[in-house]
Amino acid sequence: MKSFEVDQWLRPNIKSLKPYSSARDEFSGEALVFLDANENCFDNGLNRYPDPKSSDLRARVSALLGIKSGNIFFGNGSDEAIDLIIRASCDSGKDAILAISPSYGMYEVCAAIQGVRIDKVLLEEDFSLSSAKLLKAVKQNHKIVFLCSPNNPTGNILEKEEVENVLQNFSGVVVVDEAYIDFSDSPGLVDLIDRYPNLILLRTFSKAWGLAGVRCGMAISNEEIVNVLMKIKYPYNLNTLTQNRVAEALDQAKILSVQLDSIIREREILIKSLRDIPTILNVYDSQANFVLIRVDDPDNVYQRLLDKGLVVRNRNKQDLCSGCLRITIGTVEENRRFIESLKEILS
Ligand SMILES: *Cc1c(COP(=O)(O)O)cnc(C)c1O
Repeated sequence: MKSFEVDQWLRPNIKSLKPYSSARDEFSGEALVFLDANENCFDNGLNRYPDPKSSDLRARVSALLGIKSGNIFFGNGSDEAIDLIIRASCDSGKDAILAISPSYGMYEVCAAIQGVRIDKVLLEEDFSLSSAKLLKAVKQNHKIVFLCSPNNPTGNILEKEEVENVLQNFSGVVVVDEAYIDFSDSPGLVDLIDRYPNLILLRTFSKAWGLAGVRCGMAISNEEIVNVLMKIKYPYNLNTLTQNRVAEALDQAKILSVQLDSIIREREILIKSLRDIPTILNVYDSQANFVLIRVDDPDNVYQRLLDKGLVVRNRNKQDLCSGCLRITIGTVEENRRFIESLKEILS
């Protein structure tokens, strides 16, 4: 196993950074009167600054996942975590990142904003990960490897052995984006965070939890890395409304499991219906809440679906995805409409 030191991974200016200390950072405990933060004193439910550490949420997720509060970073969507991980470690014009392709577009966008080069390693034809191929592509200045499992837009889980091989043989941080893990039959890699000091997992409330509108995501890692992300985030990155709404959702996890069961059931029904349409070239298995299909004339199929009021995602131009459209699982009625329209178009 390669050695990994957080201090050497960080940009020097981040290592030495003294974070902004907010009024609420400097106070802990119970108080009767708050005269420290220049807030308006009249109570309207939102006149106070939010908890900068999202302590209540971290305690709840700690209990849910069986990890320490100190292993959890809460961000304004997991997109914030992606941005912070790159900014913490990559000097513009010098360092670089490595990502699988095809995959989620934000790794590339966040790297580009920071002026950091991204190199890509193609998945195999069946969208599986070859850790040997990825490790061969690693260069001295690669600070981060981005993996995504289940992967977007392909829908498959990356083999645990392959991911572990990357963790053991890459000397920077390996980010595994588990945005869709709740739709899969895998528990994900949470049990590995104590074993690998260079592992960061990403989770989000935007997909399975049904809260894309609140903007809340998580990075799960060892305390040292979590503390770095806490140090460089905006002091009040999660607003009070978001923190309250996510706490409520975590209280009502039962509702979620009913919705998840329905989405997973519908996914399998949709895959079966799609496989019954002979003119579709390929319908890929999925461990997420979407299905990737391959057709002969994707731009035309996309446009004709749109003409019927149905929007899917055209992934035709992504690596290994020529001919591919990505369809999110909808309600029973939405999926029925989609299949009916697609049959008309392809007949
Ligand atoms: C949707 C998605 C996310 C979610 O990002 P948020 O900022 O939390 O909404 C993260 N990663 C992948 C791969 C996604 O598809």
